[in-house]
Amino acid sequence: PQGAPSPMSKQAEIPGVAAVIAVASGKGGVGKSTTALNLALGLRDLGLRVGLLDADIYGPSVPRLTGINEKPQLNDDRKMIPIKRFGLAIMSIGFLVEEDTAMIWRGPMVMSAITQMLRDVAWGTLDILVVDMPPGTGDAQLTLAQNVPLKGAVIISTPQDLSLIDARRGLAMFKKVNVPVLGIVENMSYFQCPECGTRSDIFGHGGARHEAERLGVPFLGEIPLHMSIRTTSDAGNPVVASEPDGPHAAIYRAIGTKVR
Ligand code: ADP
Repeated sequence: PQGAPSPMSKQAEIPGVAAVIAVASGKGGVGKSTTALNLALGLRDLGLRVGLLDADIYGPSVPRLTGINEKPQLNDDRKMIPIKRFGLAIMSIGFLVEEDTAMIWRGPMVMSAITQMLRDVAWGTLDILVVDMPPGTGDAQLTLAQNVPLKGAVIISTPQDLSLIDARRGLAMFKKVNVPVLGIVENMSYFQCPECGTRSDIFGHGGARHEAERLGVPFLGEIPLHMSIRTTSDAGNPVVASEPDGPHAAIYRAIGTKVR
């Protein structure tokens, strides 16, 4: 039937990996990678064995977010061994090439790179593999969604209308390839003052929740725009790992309980 994955798509399971969750966004800069990493850590805190694949081939940010700057070793089967950090098994194209090299790659190269990172990596035994998708809803994203047996997709959006429209496009794309949308996360939902903790709804409040209800998909939670989420990311020590007892870690764990 129209919309179903084509018979050409290779939806083979990834050995040892029980479930794959895609973290997607309609456009860049909404905090997709930050959320993917902290969500992976939140799932780890729930006692799950978790991997993170940075498939954001056009701008792999996981090396910076995790402070990893080593190249993966090969095992006896010539598969890449993911880097272990924060209790996660982590793989990024950024471990293999300079951060801006992949920018100039064309579609087919991007796809074969992503496929290799899924299949030619010795992931070990994982309960969940979180895939940080490239931003947008183009061919690369569509092919990825078709090539991997996804449990579902989490869409990251900011409150502004534009990215909500983009989130809608993301929903349509996953629907087209029969991937369940696990829900929408509103990032940079409100500003939280690092000094006094006061909340300011700079972009208005409840946009994404309302939109999720309207679209009939779960609303997974709101993450504030907070200085420490950015500074911990920039320091390569994400907030869930560096402030495990803080309020932000609790938010990411709560989202984790909804998507696990
Ligand atoms: P994307 O993957 O969507 O391009 P990133 O995760 O790289 O976005 O985030 C873009 C920038 O916004 C980064 O500097 C990141 O530290 C910052 N950022 C993301 N989410 C938050 C947040 N909730 N609060 C503060 N800064 C954030």
